[in-house]
Parts: sequence; structure tokens; C-alpha cells
Amino acid sequence: MDNEKICSLCGQPLSRYGNKKIKDGVLCRNCIKAASPWLSDEDYLNLTLEDYKKHLEYREKNQEKLEGFKADKSIAGKYSLYLDETGKQFVISKRKDYKKDNADVIPLDDIKEISIFEERYLDSDDVDICFDVKLDNAQIDNVYFRVNEFPGLVRDSEEHKTTLDLALSYLDAFENEDGLDFEQAEGE
Ligand SMILES: [Zn+2]
Repeated sequence: MDNEKICSLCGQPLSRYGNKKIKDGVLCRNCIKAASPWLSDEDYLNLTLEDYKKHLEYREKNQEKLEGFKADKSIAGKYSLYLDETGKQFVISKRKDYKKDNADVIPLDDIKEISIFEERYLDSDDVDICFDVKLDNAQIDNVYFRVNEFPGLVRDSEEHKTTLDLALSYLDAFENEDGLDFEQAEGE
């Protein structure tokens, strides 16, 4: 069988959509289900099949880690932020049930830089408000997501304002954690 048409991990035929190219092969839709949602297409392209197998092992361990995760503080949104102040770690999950979601447990110490910015659409003045957490982490380079629930906000509208407030409240929650020094971490 043509190697280009089967999944490098499970060997099943690839479907037309939903596959991910990796450095030395292709993964089928099924085989990426367990991956972190924070892997970008570019991240996949930089992964070898061996790297990806390690990523899946990491994801299994993450599920166990979540058992010990205590959400002391949470901020709800399209993506919700949960902070474990005792364990000094956080998760950001699209689903309310972050355990079921197997949301990545990330140590606060891994944070290098946090930014909020607007992405403008090419064909209109509408914007998305994006939240980006750059990490020094073996599995995830950055946690990046759109804060507004639906794409395209009219600038200076009420929805734009509440979305920006939400993004700022994520930022405040991070900044209020003791011992977080983004600038210092960034230089390392
Ligand atoms: Zn597969």
C-alpha cells in the first residue's frame, strides 16, 4: 500500500480531512484525538513519529496529574482558566469538565510571557481578541486562543469591551500569583 495514504502511527487508511502532517509522516484523525489542543499545525510539522509517541505518553500522564489538580480560582469564558494556587499550576480548557477534556496541566513556572492582542481581519475592520501564553515547556510552546466566543468583534462595541475585560481578568489572575516574574523567566 502507498505509504502516503496510510497513517504513520496506526497504519489505517487516511481520510480526506482532518489528518496532520508531521516531520516524517502523516497522522490520521483518530490518532490526533488524544493530543494536546495547543499543538499548532507548525508544531506537528516539527514532530517526528517518535516525538509524537512521547507526546501521547505525556498526555496519559497528564490525565493522572489532573487527579491532583485543585482549582482554587477560575475564570469562565469560551476558554476557562483554572488556577491551582497550591500546586502552582494552571489549566485552560474549552470544556467545563477539564478532567474529561484532559486539559494540559502547566506549571506556572513554565510561563515566559503573556500577551493580549487584537487580530484584524483582512477584509473588514472586525477584530478578534487573542490571548497568548508563551511557555518554556517540553511539550507545549504556547497556549494561544481567541477570547471572543464568535469570530469578529466590532471595535469599541459593548462586546469588544467585555471581551477585553475578560482577557484582562485572565492576565490579572496570572499576575496575582506569587513568585511569578515573567521578565526574569524570559531571559533564561
Ligand atoms: Zn492513525
